[in-house]
Amino acid sequence: MKQKPLTMTRVALGSLLRKPATVPYPAARKPVYLATRGHIAIEEDKCNLCLICDRRCPTGAIAVDRTGKTWAIDRLRCIQCNHCVDVCPRKCLAMENDYTTPMQMKRSDVVPVPFTPPQPKPKPAAAPAPTSDSPLQAKEERPGERNHEPPDQSSAD
Ligand code: SF4
Ligand code: SF4
Repeated sequence: MKQKPLTMTRVALGSLLRKPATVPYPAARKPVYLATRGHIAIEEDKCNLCLICDRRCPTGAIAVDRTGKTWAIDRLRCIQCNHCVDVCPRKCLAMENDYTTPMQMKRSDVVPVPFTPPQPKPKPAAAPAPTSDSPLQAKEERPGERNHEPPDQSSAD
């Protein structure tokens, strides 16, 4: 493909007159936008440790410990897909639009969850066995009434 003459010169001169597209991070930061996928945050008061986000995270970044009552995320594994936010039944996860600070060592952010699972209800007491004094049994024993005993065969002979 044939290029127009002085293309490179025009691009270089144009770049000199424009502001740079990059920012001198970390002295300056790019602005975040409403839809920027920064990091996952949890409202731990709403969480009931149901494990759904743990099981559905495609990268295994979330670990929910029901015994220790903690919710943890390995941010280096998280790919900001937002799936955990979509599936959380309690709506306690959110995608914040700012980034977490860079880390020097691999670690998980562990959040204690104050949820206390409800105690199982006590079983109702077993119904007392019917006695001969009970009205039900007295009705069954009333003479002349039909009962479920087999008929007496001795009188048929
Ligand atoms: S945003 Fe995606 S990868 Fe990150 S914790 Fe949630 S489900 Fe896992
Ligand atoms: S964050 Fe949501 S999906 Fe995850 S354990 Fe808590 S309630 Fe369940």
